[in-house]
Amino acid sequence: MRPNKLYLVIPCYNEEEVLPETARRVKEKLSRLIAGGAASPESRVLFVNDGSRDSTWEIICKLHEEDPLFLGVSLSRNRGHQNALLAGLMTAMDRCDLSISMDADLQDDIEALDAFLARYQEGCDVVYGVRSSRASDTVFKRETAGLFYKLMRWMGTPVVDNHADYRLMSARAMEALSQFEEVNLFLRGIVPLVGFKTAIVTYERHERFAGMSKYPLGKMLSFAFDGITSFSTVPIRLITLAGFGIFFASLAALLVFLIQKLLGYTVQGWATLMGSIWLIGGIQLLALGVIGEYVGKTYTEVKHRPRFIIESALLDDSRPAPEDFSRR
Ligand code: UDP
Ligand code: MG
Repeated sequence: MRPNKLYLVIPCYNEEEVLPETARRVKEKLSRLIAGGAASPESRVLFVNDGSRDSTWEIICKLHEEDPLFLGVSLSRNRGHQNALLAGLMTAMDRCDLSISMDADLQDDIEALDAFLARYQEGCDVVYGVRSSRASDTVFKRETAGLFYKLMRWMGTPVVDNHADYRLMSARAMEALSQFEEVNLFLRGIVPLVGFKTAIVTYERHERFAGMSKYPLGKMLSFAFDGITSFSTVPIRLITLAGFGIFFASLAALLVFLIQKLLGYTVQGWATLMGSIWLIGGIQLLALGVIGEYVGKTYTEVKHRPRFIIESALLDDSRPAPEDFSRR
Protein backbone atom coordinates (compact mmCIF):
# COMPACT_ATOMS: atom_id res chain seq x y z
CA MET A 1 0.00 0.00 0.00
CA ARG A 2 1.28 3.47 -0.86
CA PRO A 3 1.73 5.90 2.06
CA ASN A 4 -1.47 7.88 2.42
CA LYS A 5 -1.07 10.95 4.55
CA LEU A 6 -3.74 13.07 2.91
CA TYR A 7 -4.14 16.84 2.90
CA LEU A 8 -7.47 18.22 1.77
CA VAL A 9 -6.73 21.64 0.32
CA ILE A 10 -9.65 24.07 0.37
CA PRO A 11 -9.34 27.66 -0.89
CA CYS A 12 -11.81 30.04 0.76
CA TYR A 13 -12.83 33.53 -0.22
CA ASN A 14 -15.56 35.15 1.88
CA GLU A 15 -16.96 31.78 2.83
CA GLU A 16 -18.15 32.47 6.39
CA GLU A 17 -21.60 31.21 5.49
CA VAL A 18 -20.45 27.78 4.38
CA LEU A 19 -17.28 27.14 6.40
CA PRO A 20 -18.71 25.75 9.66
CA GLU A 21 -20.91 23.29 7.79
CA THR A 22 -18.11 22.43 5.33
CA ALA A 23 -15.74 21.79 8.23
CA ARG A 24 -18.28 19.53 9.87
CA ARG A 25 -18.92 17.46 6.74
CA VAL A 26 -15.26 17.26 5.74
CA LYS A 27 -14.29 16.14 9.22
CA GLU A 28 -16.95 13.48 9.23
CA LYS A 29 -15.81 12.16 5.87
CA LEU A 30 -12.11 12.30 6.66
CA SER A 31 -12.70 10.55 9.98
CA ARG A 32 -14.42 7.73 8.17
CA LEU A 33 -11.56 7.48 5.68
CA ILE A 34 -9.04 7.38 8.51
CA ALA A 35 -11.06 4.81 10.44
CA GLY A 36 -11.26 2.65 7.33
CA GLY A 37 -7.52 2.93 6.70
CA ALA A 38 -7.88 4.74 3.36
CA ALA A 39 -6.10 7.79 4.80
CA SER A 40 -3.46 7.85 7.51
CA PRO A 41 -4.32 9.29 10.96
CA GLU A 42 -1.91 12.20 10.27
CA SER A 43 -4.17 13.42 7.48
CA ARG A 44 -5.32 17.02 7.72
CA VAL A 45 -7.64 19.63 6.23
CA LEU A 46 -5.79 22.70 5.00
CA PHE A 47 -7.87 25.83 4.48
CA VAL A 48 -6.37 28.66 2.43
CA ASN A 49 -7.88 32.02 3.23
CA ASP A 50 -7.66 34.07 0.04
CA GLY A 51 -7.74 37.55 1.58
CA SER A 52 -11.36 37.29 2.66
CA ARG A 53 -13.05 40.43 3.89
CA ASP A 54 -15.47 38.62 6.17
CA SER A 55 -14.77 36.41 9.20
CA THR A 56 -13.47 33.44 7.18
CA TRP A 57 -10.00 33.56 8.75
CA GLU A 58 -11.37 33.91 12.28
CA ILE A 59 -13.46 30.81 11.68
CA ILE A 60 -10.41 28.91 10.40
CA CYS A 61 -8.39 30.00 13.45
CA LYS A 62 -11.13 28.80 15.74
CA LEU A 63 -11.41 25.47 13.93
CA HIS A 64 -7.65 24.99 14.24
CA GLU A 65 -7.71 25.79 17.93
CA GLU A 66 -10.50 23.37 18.66
CA ASP A 67 -9.36 20.53 16.49
CA PRO A 68 -5.87 19.46 15.35
CA LEU A 69 -7.46 18.13 12.17
CA PHE A 70 -7.76 21.63 10.74
CA LEU A 71 -4.82 23.68 9.50
CA GLY A 72 -4.82 27.02 7.72
CA VAL A 73 -2.77 29.55 5.83
CA SER A 74 -3.85 33.08 5.09
CA LEU A 75 -2.73 35.04 2.04
CA SER A 76 -1.81 38.69 2.41
CA ARG A 77 -4.60 39.71 0.02
CA ASN A 78 -7.11 38.30 -2.43
CA ARG A 79 -5.21 36.62 -5.26
CA GLY A 80 -7.96 34.60 -6.88
CA HIS A 81 -8.94 30.96 -6.72
CA GLN A 82 -6.04 29.58 -8.78
CA ASN A 83 -3.33 31.32 -6.78
CA ALA A 84 -4.97 30.40 -3.49
CA LEU A 85 -5.13 26.79 -4.57
CA LEU A 86 -1.49 26.85 -5.63
CA ALA A 87 -0.52 28.36 -2.26
CA GLY A 88 -2.31 25.45 -0.59
CA LEU A 89 -0.67 22.82 -2.78
CA MET A 90 2.79 24.31 -2.32
CA THR A 91 2.25 24.35 1.44
CA ALA A 92 0.96 20.79 1.46
CA MET A 93 3.62 19.50 -0.93
CA ASP A 94 6.26 18.43 1.56
CA ARG A 95 3.96 17.73 4.46
CA CYS A 96 1.86 14.95 2.99
CA ASP A 97 1.88 12.02 0.59
CA LEU A 98 -1.03 13.28 -1.45
CA SER A 99 -3.45 16.17 -1.63
CA ILE A 100 -7.01 16.50 -2.83
CA SER A 101 -8.18 19.99 -3.70
CA MET A 102 -11.81 20.96 -3.46
CA ASP A 103 -14.06 24.03 -3.21
CA ALA A 104 -15.26 25.37 0.10
CA ASP A 105 -18.92 25.13 -0.93
CA LEU A 106 -18.82 21.32 -1.27
CA GLN A 107 -20.44 21.45 -4.70
CA ASP A 108 -18.10 18.62 -5.55
CA ASP A 109 -19.41 15.42 -4.06
CA ILE A 110 -17.28 14.57 -1.05
CA GLU A 111 -18.29 10.91 -1.27
CA ALA A 112 -16.07 10.65 -4.35
CA LEU A 113 -13.00 10.78 -2.09
CA ASP A 114 -13.02 7.00 -1.70
CA ALA A 115 -12.76 6.55 -5.47
CA PHE A 116 -9.94 9.12 -5.64
CA LEU A 117 -7.97 7.27 -2.98
CA ALA A 118 -8.58 3.93 -4.65
CA ARG A 119 -7.11 5.25 -7.92
CA TYR A 120 -4.14 6.60 -5.97
CA GLN A 121 -3.55 3.18 -4.45
CA GLU A 122 -3.63 1.75 -7.97
CA GLY A 123 -0.60 3.88 -8.72
CA CYS A 124 -2.06 7.09 -10.18
CA ASP A 125 -0.29 10.34 -9.35
CA VAL A 126 -3.04 12.62 -10.62
CA VAL A 127 -6.76 11.88 -10.43
CA TYR A 128 -9.22 14.27 -12.06
CA GLY A 129 -12.73 14.72 -10.72
CA VAL A 130 -15.13 15.01 -13.64
CA ARG A 131 -18.77 16.04 -13.32
CA SER A 132 -21.12 13.46 -14.63
CA SER A 133 -23.78 16.07 -15.37
CA ARG A 134 -24.17 19.79 -15.26
CA ALA A 135 -27.81 19.69 -14.23
CA SER A 136 -27.22 22.06 -11.32
CA ASP A 137 -25.71 24.74 -13.58
CA THR A 138 -27.69 27.32 -15.52
CA VAL A 139 -28.22 26.61 -19.22
CA PHE A 140 -25.96 29.55 -19.99
CA LYS A 141 -23.09 28.25 -17.85
CA ARG A 142 -23.49 24.76 -19.28
CA GLU A 143 -23.44 25.90 -22.90
CA THR A 144 -20.59 28.36 -22.52
CA ALA A 145 -18.56 25.78 -20.60
CA GLY A 146 -19.07 23.24 -23.40
CA LEU A 147 -17.97 25.76 -25.97
CA PHE A 148 -14.98 26.68 -23.86
CA TYR A 149 -13.69 23.10 -23.65
CA LYS A 150 -14.11 22.65 -27.40
CA LEU A 151 -12.28 25.89 -28.12
CA MET A 152 -9.46 25.01 -25.73
CA ARG A 153 -8.89 21.64 -27.31
CA TRP A 154 -9.12 23.02 -30.81
CA MET A 155 -6.39 25.50 -29.88
CA GLY A 156 -4.20 22.72 -28.59
CA THR A 157 -4.55 22.92 -24.79
CA PRO A 158 -4.97 19.47 -23.25
CA VAL A 159 -7.83 20.14 -20.81
CA VAL A 160 -9.95 17.40 -19.26
CA ASP A 161 -13.63 17.97 -20.10
CA ASN A 162 -15.87 19.03 -17.22
CA HIS A 163 -13.05 18.88 -14.72
CA ALA A 164 -12.86 21.83 -12.36
CA ASP A 165 -10.26 21.84 -9.63
CA TYR A 166 -11.45 18.79 -7.72
CA ARG A 167 -8.27 16.79 -8.09
CA LEU A 168 -5.91 14.43 -6.34
CA MET A 169 -2.18 14.99 -6.67
CA SER A 170 0.61 12.91 -5.20
CA ALA A 171 3.54 14.63 -3.52
CA ARG A 172 5.74 14.10 -6.56
CA ALA A 173 3.08 15.50 -8.88
CA MET A 174 2.90 18.62 -6.70
CA GLU A 175 6.69 18.75 -6.70
CA ALA A 176 6.61 18.69 -10.49
CA LEU A 177 3.90 21.34 -10.54
CA SER A 178 6.09 23.61 -8.44
CA GLN A 179 8.56 23.71 -11.32
CA PHE A 180 6.04 25.45 -13.55
CA GLU A 181 6.71 29.01 -12.63
CA GLU A 182 4.11 30.83 -14.63
CA VAL A 183 2.33 33.77 -13.10
CA ASN A 184 -0.76 33.56 -15.31
CA LEU A 185 -2.08 30.48 -13.62
CA PHE A 186 -4.53 28.10 -15.22
CA LEU A 187 -4.01 24.92 -13.25
CA ARG A 188 -6.38 22.84 -15.36
CA GLY A 189 -4.08 23.44 -18.30
CA ILE A 190 -0.82 22.97 -16.40
CA VAL A 191 -1.56 19.78 -14.48
CA PRO A 192 -1.95 17.64 -17.64
CA LEU A 193 1.51 18.87 -18.66
CA VAL A 194 2.95 17.40 -15.46
CA GLY A 195 2.37 13.89 -16.79
CA PHE A 196 2.53 10.72 -14.65
CA LYS A 197 -0.18 8.09 -14.53
CA THR A 198 -3.61 9.68 -14.33
CA ALA A 199 -7.21 8.58 -13.91
CA ILE A 200 -10.67 10.09 -13.88
CA VAL A 201 -13.34 9.84 -11.23
CA THR A 202 -16.87 10.96 -12.08
CA TYR A 203 -19.20 12.54 -9.56
CA GLU A 204 -22.40 14.54 -9.32
CA ARG A 205 -21.98 18.24 -8.85
CA HIS A 206 -24.42 19.76 -6.37
CA GLU A 207 -25.69 23.27 -5.89
CA ARG A 208 -23.94 25.57 -3.46
CA PHE A 209 -25.65 24.99 -0.10
CA ALA A 210 -25.13 28.58 1.09
CA GLY A 211 -23.62 31.86 -0.03
CA MET A 212 -23.12 33.21 -3.52
CA SER A 213 -20.77 32.06 -6.25
CA LYS A 214 -17.42 33.85 -6.05
CA TYR A 215 -17.14 33.53 -9.82
CA PRO A 216 -19.41 36.14 -11.39
CA LEU A 217 -19.67 36.25 -15.18
CA GLY A 218 -16.86 38.78 -15.61
CA LYS A 219 -14.39 36.69 -13.58
CA MET A 220 -15.47 33.56 -15.45
CA LEU A 221 -14.90 35.11 -18.87
CA SER A 222 -11.53 36.50 -17.93
CA PHE A 223 -10.59 33.07 -16.52
CA ALA A 224 -11.58 31.42 -19.83
CA PHE A 225 -9.65 34.04 -21.79
CA ASP A 226 -6.61 33.47 -19.56
CA GLY A 227 -6.91 29.75 -20.13
CA ILE A 228 -6.69 30.21 -23.86
CA THR A 229 -4.03 32.89 -24.05
CA SER A 230 -1.80 31.27 -21.43
CA PHE A 231 -1.52 28.08 -23.41
CA SER A 232 -2.02 28.77 -27.06
CA THR A 233 -0.69 31.13 -29.68
CA VAL A 234 -3.33 30.01 -32.17
CA PRO A 235 -5.23 33.35 -31.87
CA ILE A 236 -2.13 35.21 -33.07
CA ARG A 237 -1.73 32.80 -35.94
CA LEU A 238 -5.37 33.33 -36.86
CA ILE A 239 -4.73 37.06 -37.04
CA THR A 240 -1.83 36.50 -39.39
CA LEU A 241 -4.00 34.25 -41.53
CA ALA A 242 -6.82 36.82 -41.55
CA GLY A 243 -4.26 39.46 -42.52
CA PHE A 244 -3.13 37.35 -45.48
CA GLY A 245 -6.71 36.66 -46.49
CA ILE A 246 -7.69 40.29 -46.42
CA PHE A 247 -4.54 41.30 -48.27
CA PHE A 248 -5.16 38.92 -51.17
CA ALA A 249 -8.86 39.75 -51.26
CA SER A 250 -8.07 43.46 -51.55
CA LEU A 251 -5.53 42.74 -54.30
CA ALA A 252 -8.25 40.93 -56.23
CA ALA A 253 -10.74 43.72 -55.58
CA LEU A 254 -8.21 46.29 -56.74
CA LEU A 255 -7.76 44.37 -59.95
CA VAL A 256 -11.51 44.31 -60.49
CA PHE A 257 -11.76 48.06 -59.88
CA LEU A 258 -8.90 48.71 -62.29
CA ILE A 259 -10.55 46.69 -65.04
CA GLN A 260 -13.86 48.49 -64.39
CA LYS A 261 -12.08 51.83 -64.62
CA LEU A 262 -10.42 50.87 -67.90
CA LEU A 263 -13.75 49.74 -69.29
CA GLY A 264 -15.20 53.12 -68.43
CA TYR A 265 -17.49 52.34 -65.48
CA THR A 266 -17.38 54.86 -62.67
CA VAL A 267 -17.86 53.44 -59.23
CA GLN A 268 -20.08 55.45 -56.89
CA GLY A 269 -20.05 53.22 -53.80
CA TRP A 270 -19.63 55.71 -50.95
CA ALA A 271 -21.40 53.34 -48.60
CA THR A 272 -19.17 50.44 -49.59
CA LEU A 273 -16.13 52.60 -48.99
CA MET A 274 -17.21 53.76 -45.57
CA GLY A 275 -18.30 50.27 -44.68
CA SER A 276 -15.00 48.72 -45.52
CA ILE A 277 -13.03 51.39 -43.71
CA TRP A 278 -14.90 50.74 -40.50
CA LEU A 279 -14.76 47.00 -40.93
CA ILE A 280 -11.04 46.91 -41.57
CA GLY A 281 -10.49 49.41 -38.75
CA GLY A 282 -12.39 47.14 -36.39
CA ILE A 283 -10.50 44.05 -37.44
CA GLN A 284 -7.21 45.85 -36.98
CA LEU A 285 -8.10 47.00 -33.50
CA LEU A 286 -9.19 43.51 -32.56
CA ALA A 287 -5.95 42.08 -33.90
CA LEU A 288 -3.93 44.64 -31.98
CA GLY A 289 -5.90 43.81 -28.87
CA VAL A 290 -5.14 40.10 -29.14
CA ILE A 291 -1.45 40.76 -29.73
CA GLY A 292 -1.49 43.22 -26.84
CA GLU A 293 -2.90 40.50 -24.64
CA TYR A 294 0.12 38.30 -25.34
CA VAL A 295 2.56 41.16 -24.93
CA GLY A 296 0.89 41.93 -21.61
CA LYS A 297 1.18 38.31 -20.52
CA THR A 298 4.86 38.26 -21.41
CA TYR A 299 5.27 41.43 -19.38
CA THR A 300 3.72 39.95 -16.25
CA GLU A 301 5.66 36.70 -16.65
CA VAL A 302 8.97 38.48 -17.11
CA LYS A 303 8.51 40.41 -13.87
CA HIS A 304 8.30 37.14 -12.00
CA ARG A 305 6.35 38.58 -9.13
CA PRO A 306 5.41 36.17 -6.33
CA ARG A 307 2.17 34.37 -7.05
CA PHE A 308 1.06 34.48 -3.45
CA ILE A 309 2.35 35.79 -0.15
CA ILE A 310 1.46 33.96 3.04
CA GLU A 311 0.67 36.29 5.87
CA SER A 312 -0.07 33.81 8.66
CA ALA A 313 0.01 30.07 8.94
CA LEU A 314 -1.51 27.56 11.34
CA LEU A 315 0.45 24.51 10.34
CA ASP A 316 1.26 22.84 13.61
CA ASP A 317 0.39 19.28 12.72
CA SER A 318 2.44 17.81 15.55
CA ARG A 319 -0.49 17.98 17.93
CA PRO A 320 -1.57 14.40 18.51
CA ALA A 321 -4.36 13.25 16.32
CA PRO A 322 -7.36 11.90 18.19
CA GLU A 323 -7.32 8.18 18.81
CA ASP A 324 -10.58 7.42 17.13
CA PHE A 325 -11.95 10.00 14.75
CA SER A 326 -15.16 8.18 14.17
CA ARG A 327 -16.31 8.70 17.74
CA ARG A 328 -15.80 12.49 17.67
N1 UDP B 1 -12.25 31.37 -4.34
C1 UDP B 1 -11.03 31.90 -3.91
N2 UDP B 1 -10.67 33.15 -4.33
C2 UDP B 1 -11.45 33.90 -5.17
C3 UDP B 1 -12.66 33.33 -5.64
C4 UDP B 1 -13.02 32.07 -5.21
O1 UDP B 1 -10.31 31.26 -3.15
O2 UDP B 1 -11.05 35.02 -5.51
C5 UDP B 1 -12.66 30.02 -3.89
C6 UDP B 1 -14.04 29.94 -3.25
O3 UDP B 1 -14.01 30.26 -1.89
C7 UDP B 1 -14.43 28.50 -3.51
C8 UDP B 1 -13.73 28.18 -4.83
O4 UDP B 1 -12.73 29.19 -5.01
O5 UDP B 1 -13.91 27.63 -2.52
C9 UDP B 1 -14.69 28.17 -6.01
O6 UDP B 1 -15.48 29.33 -6.03
P1 UDP B 1 -17.05 29.30 -6.27
O7 UDP B 1 -17.66 28.13 -5.59
O8 UDP B 1 -17.61 30.63 -5.89
O9 UDP B 1 -17.10 29.13 -7.87
P2 UDP B 1 -18.22 28.35 -8.73
O10 UDP B 1 -18.41 27.02 -8.09
O11 UDP B 1 -19.43 29.19 -8.65
O12 UDP B 1 -17.61 28.27 -10.10
MG1 MG C 1 -18.85 26.66 -6.21
